[in-house]
Amino acid sequence: VIKGAMVVDGTGSPGSVIDVGIRGDRIEVVDQAVEAESAETLDASVLVLAPGFIDVHSHDDFHVLIEPEVRHNILQGITTVIVGNCGFGAAGSEAGKIQMKAINEPSVELPDWTGYSGYLDEVEKTSPSLNVAALIGHHTARREAMNGVADRPPTDDELKAMLANVEEGMEAGAVGMSTGLVYEPGRYASTDEVVALGEIVGKYGGVYVSHMRDEGAGLLDSVRETLHIGKASGTPVQISHHKSVGKTNWGMVSQSLEMIEEAVSQGRDVTADQYPYTARSTMLFALVQNGTFNSSEGGAMGKSDPSEVLLCSVPGYDEYEGRTLQSFVEEFDLPGEDAANKLLSEYSDAILVAAFGMDEGDVRMVMAHDSTMIGTDGLDRGSKPHPR
Ligand SMILES: [Zn+2]
Repeated sequence: VIKGAMVVDGTGSPGSVIDVGIRGDRIEVVDQAVEAESAETLDASVLVLAPGFIDVHSHDDFHVLIEPEVRHNILQGITTVIVGNCGFGAAGSEAGKIQMKAINEPSVELPDWTGYSGYLDEVEKTSPSLNVAALIGHHTARREAMNGVADRPPTDDELKAMLANVEEGMEAGAVGMSTGLVYEPGRYASTDEVVALGEIVGKYGGVYVSHMRDEGAGLLDSVRETLHIGKASGTPVQISHHKSVGKTNWGMVSQSLEMIEEAVSQGRDVTADQYPYTARSTMLFALVQNGTFNSSEGGAMGKSDPSEVLLCSVPGYDEYEGRTLQSFVEEFDLPGEDAANKLLSEYSDAILVAAFGMDEGDVRMVMAHDSTMIGTDGLDRGSKPHPR
């Protein structure tokens, strides 16, 4: 019996001080004063008691296999993770491992598996301390079907292979499909390509989850594209890490939230997730590729000044971790983009950064909205990771 805790039950109702009685692995009674003579009693009178949290935006696809305790999640109360976000999916295993290298490279050699059924079998065998639900990753499907990163539409056979990847995943029990349309190789996919894959997801009752094409000046067009994909493929829609990034785009989330409200008022199932910080964490390569440092608006990933970019992980050069891009601008005597390119070509092409660029007011507005769930989007890499 857990006694005297402030119980917040997750329904949205205010917390109340109440006892909770547990038998085996089930909650049996929730009442004012639970007495059970032979029960072990835990005094929790200064604590909050809540159901386990769901991390709706996780990249721990491989981490749950490597460190089954998954301490960084379980110690903050997370008991379920939704992996496979932003297009980074686990199957096929070879393409998945190459794809994941960019953001969350596994620290040890992992076995190979066949399809999502093979991946989910590995999860089952490993038996991590939390529940794992997987999304199919569009990048991984595209990389596998098109034999790498291809800046072109798929051939009929390649599209067939991608469709088969999604079908296998949904059949194996995946909960939906994610895209990352600002990253390689997902950025080369047309809206129609995603709809074609989404139709299979819809057939199985899965959700379409998207790190959208543009979270900068093009945010609203991206929300429009995402809503269209969901509608055309018959799936609920989840917008990943909802934000408008880059100072010139601040405030735009009030309009994207209105678009969600409008879709919901038409009976659509549209939600979003958010990591509650004003800095994102991403690949330095992607910031350069999307024009973050060389245009006044900063392109699809918004503008960040080199002084707002912190190096989190520089494989092989730990001593650079924690430094700003601005410090390299000064050391190399180069403009921001050139300094970034020098780091990428001469030191590591897999540099992970934390880049400031969101407005605190926007973060609060998104967080307070009914459509928003919290996700970590955490990346366990480097000595100075983003705290998310
Ligand atoms: Zn993302």
